[in-house]
Amino acid sequence: MTIRVWDYLLEYGKEREDLLAGVEQVFSSGRLVLGESVEAFETDFGAYHGGRLCTGVDNGTNALKLALEALSVGPGDEVITVSNTAAPTVLAIVSTGATPVFVDVREDDFLMDTDQVEAAITARTRALLPVHLYGQCVDMAPLRGLADRYGLKILEDCAQAHGARHHDQLAGTMGDAAAFSFYPTKVLGAYGDGGAVITADEDVQRNLRQLRYYGMDTAYYVVRVPGHNSRLDEVQAEILRRKLRRLDEYVERRNAVARRYEEQLADLSAPDGLRLPATAPGNRHVYYVYVVRHPRRDAVLEALKEHDIFLNISYPWPVHTMSGLADPKYPAGSLPVTEKVAGEIFSLPMYPSLPESVQEHTIAALREVLAAV
Ligand SMILES: *Cc1c(COP(=O)(O)O)cnc(C)c1O
Repeated sequence: MTIRVWDYLLEYGKEREDLLAGVEQVFSSGRLVLGESVEAFETDFGAYHGGRLCTGVDNGTNALKLALEALSVGPGDEVITVSNTAAPTVLAIVSTGATPVFVDVREDDFLMDTDQVEAAITARTRALLPVHLYGQCVDMAPLRGLADRYGLKILEDCAQAHGARHHDQLAGTMGDAAAFSFYPTKVLGAYGDGGAVITADEDVQRNLRQLRYYGMDTAYYVVRVPGHNSRLDEVQAEILRRKLRRLDEYVERRNAVARRYEEQLADLSAPDGLRLPATAPGNRHVYYVYVVRHPRRDAVLEALKEHDIFLNISYPWPVHTMSGLADPKYPAGSLPVTEKVAGEIFSLPMYPSLPESVQEHTIAALREVLAAV
């Protein structure tokens, strides 16, 4: 039995009839692009987020890009974010012509160190882009204070945080806009690519509608550039609409998997050994990934392969260390916590339908490996 961090086939087995009925519904609807399913999903996803306005788009990267453009971020502007994220967060900033500015993360929960943000603000700063990494929320109160004081916009990267909460606030409802990815592995995943932006601001919403539709306000009439073709696919929208009803259940099951890891690995946890993830105060974690740390990470991963267990690293390279995104302002050592944790983190299997037997087998193998490295 080969074990991987993510698998969707068991879930598909359970949901097959519902999902295929959705595909059939779209195919026979007579309208294959921006039809009833995209509209219905946008209504439902907005309603889930307390009545936000929602625009479905083609993927999470473009959700971030269009949201930045809709917030009037462009060439010459700076956007403050983190380097410990999926590269698309930063690629989206670069694609608008703006410059990413990095702050470090906190060592205990890997989230943006909001204490460092004010010192990174310049006359060019236009927006803050916190990433609700691994499935839990960045502390937004200090960011809101800074945004109000300096006249900045906040875009939340919610690609890993569908359904996550900080106290009673849902991820995506605390900024000026929020971008989601529905890449299949995400907490709410499509059967292909998808994304969405939510906002409470009607002007931002109007911008988004135009940006995803060639810059047009009505068919064939361009009112703005850039215009993109970034529509959410109708089939994916219908699948997402059906899966959205089960989002809270997925989150529950991810939390049950996390609890099992905690119960069965807590005794191994040590500052110079395995370290389990911490949940920041007030957060409801959705565990997009279950990220642990070990100082001899590479040896642990190699040894696990002998047990047919293939784990993953989210992410092996901080964005500022990649050649394609290098910036002389961020030489090696400039974001010390980000760089240190990147060498130690790895992800244990995590998905809602993870069988208990597979999880226990993984835990047993990990215990054996850790005793030997
Ligand atoms: C997945 C992800 C993205 C990109 O989403 P795509 O749908 O793959 O384009 C952006 N930011 C973060 C934090 C992600 O995890």
